[in-house]
Amino acid sequence: MDTTDKTPAQILATPVQYLKGVGPARVDLLHRLGLHTAADVLFCFPRDYQDLTDQRPIDRLEEGKLQTVCGVVEDIELRGTRAGKTLLGVLVRQGGGFLRALWFNQPFMREKFTLGQRVMLSGKPKYEGLVWRMVHPRVEPLAEEEEDPAGRILPVYPLTEGLHQWEMRRIARHAIDEYGPLLEETFPAEYLAGHDLWPIARALPQIHFPDAKQSLAAARRRFVYQELFILQLALAVRRRQQADIRRAPGLAASAKIDARIRRLFPFELTAGQEQAIAEIAADMAGSKPMNRLLQGDVGSGKTVVALYAMLLAVAHDYQAALMAPTEVLARQHAQTVEKLLTGSEVRRGLLTGGLPAKPRAALLETIAAGELDLVIGTQAIIQEDVRFAKLGVVVIDEQHKFGVRQRAKLKYAGPDPHYLVMTATPIPRSVTMTLFGDLDVSTLRDLPPGRQKVNTYLAGEDKRERWWDFFRKKLREGRQGFVVTPLVDESEQLDVASVQQRFEALANGELEAFRVGLIHGRMPPHEKDAVMDAFRCNERQVLVCTSVVEVGVDVPNATLMTIESGERFGLAQLHQLRGRISRGRHPGFCCVFADPQTDAARKRLEAFAKSTDGFKLAEQDFALRGPGDLFGTQQHGLPPLRIADLLRDQELLIEARRDAMQLIAADHGLARAEHARLRRQMLTRYGRAFELGDVG
Ligand code: ADP
Ligand code: MG
Repeated sequence: MDTTDKTPAQILATPVQYLKGVGPARVDLLHRLGLHTAADVLFCFPRDYQDLTDQRPIDRLEEGKLQTVCGVVEDIELRGTRAGKTLLGVLVRQGGGFLRALWFNQPFMREKFTLGQRVMLSGKPKYEGLVWRMVHPRVEPLAEEEEDPAGRILPVYPLTEGLHQWEMRRIARHAIDEYGPLLEETFPAEYLAGHDLWPIARALPQIHFPDAKQSLAAARRRFVYQELFILQLALAVRRRQQADIRRAPGLAASAKIDARIRRLFPFELTAGQEQAIAEIAADMAGSKPMNRLLQGDVGSGKTVVALYAMLLAVAHDYQAALMAPTEVLARQHAQTVEKLLTGSEVRRGLLTGGLPAKPRAALLETIAAGELDLVIGTQAIIQEDVRFAKLGVVVIDEQHKFGVRQRAKLKYAGPDPHYLVMTATPIPRSVTMTLFGDLDVSTLRDLPPGRQKVNTYLAGEDKRERWWDFFRKKLREGRQGFVVTPLVDESEQLDVASVQQRFEALANGELEAFRVGLIHGRMPPHEKDAVMDAFRCNERQVLVCTSVVEVGVDVPNATLMTIESGERFGLAQLHQLRGRISRGRHPGFCCVFADPQTDAARKRLEAFAKSTDGFKLAEQDFALRGPGDLFGTQQHGLPPLRIADLLRDQELLIEARRDAMQLIAADHGLARAEHARLRRQMLTRYGRAFELGDVG
């Protein structure tokens, strides 16, 4: 390494081909993993660890406990069994002891072994007929020169085809020894001490090659904290910028305005709605743009809260926009608003993608001229050519369907509008604090009074007859119901075919005595409309559909829900579906036919049947799926978290968030010299995603 006149940063940027243990053959493999420089390798944290602290000589093994054995491959035998299956046996010798590892029906495992090779096997051994056996153990080839990993905790790195774990370990080991000491410490020394954080010089080697579980935990704590802290700094700065720079019209709710709006609602508001409205009114009265997330379980009554915000803007002669994720939902909102505003002089319009060019142009003109007060629509609202004259508030329904950043795209030349985003998929607190960390949150915890609970059943094929008997009985009593089929395939054509088939089978079979309608995503908007309208007024008693009804649809007389192939739906989706039938005075009945093939699917369905609390289900969903999925940061346009796990690291998240807000309160633009490194890291990582510009 030539260190003569290079800065540490330049040396850390050394391309991977110059690292020890890499060589020309492995350069491409590392590139494929996204590793280009020495620093990349240092921050390529293990995705897991192999705990070999319980590593034993063969003669001291115990049955049934996870243990590790190192030895040399003495014999490999792959043979067919009578039943046409294969059996692979690998005999490993360690000193004078032998252990046989067995794989059933995994002939490809044969390739992993060569005679005389040193390997490490981890599994739960059994003593059978004088030999120890491990069935399907975890295998790890050991490098020739790799010292005996007895009693150690080994890193398990992300790999790519052609790169071995032991090679990656060797590369990481060398990189840490050579380049690790050049890393700059991000935090001031007193900060580390005050927050019980290890310095990077101590944490880096331990996160890769921990001496013990405790030092791994301490090292991990340091890096997780740093990652979450930097993210929280970015969120705090963004929030501050919005508050400092952006100006919105102050739209206060006078007693008169308040009374005029409330007169429109046909019911008493729930305590939660009252509180949310109070929070929103306080935000909108100020000259900083409201940036609020309204979350509430399905059916908790978010729409009237949104409507309050919109009418508040209209009362001040400003326009209001409501954006929904689907046409069905946009139309429903339009109808709700129509009903509530009958006789009012508020001018409203519906803007969806299905609108033909001419009426669309006319509508855009009235919007631009300020001749429409209330615009309801789909994503069509944020199209390039839509201009508002005087926009006061924007409401985005079912926020999770859009992603966070989309709201920024709304075209409007005037002062900033107030923003209210709504979600019916309750969001785990840790996710709210990260993805939505720059929003204020209002929560509707209670449902409107008089709601009946929904009974949920998980059923197998043998229960179909009984369910349809019950379903028919309830239809005869005057209720309505849904039959939902899952997305079969990526191709919508196939979906249409399958939902159509289901529709015909039911309409000519189990439900032939009833008026059955069909709705799916590929139908032209006016047909969808017609079907929804027919269902709403009970002209259609049953709706066979794909998950188009998943969000928002509100037909209180519908109390029956049949879900086909329930194992194909996510927990949030199932809960949304069930939400369709918990909206009226009659109890709901939800029957899920499912054939779960995986453990995860089984757990998901059981959780669903056991609870109707959306907040609880959201936490469970989160735990089952891991945070990478629905609430994935990437989907929301943020860089992925490298080491922090929003589920596992919730406490540290809260700590990092509090600390970040404190720091920003004390040093707004991170302008102080001792914060220069933090500032640089924050900008490098989140500057673009959050449009932070040049902080200062
Ligand atoms: P969501 O929060 O899922 O969007 P909606 O706004 O669609 O829920 O409301 C669900 C149903 O509850 C609607 O039929 C609505 O009219 C009704 N609702 C809302 N608030 C109340 C209330 N305070 N009292 C009685 N019914 C209400
Ligand atoms: Mg809704």
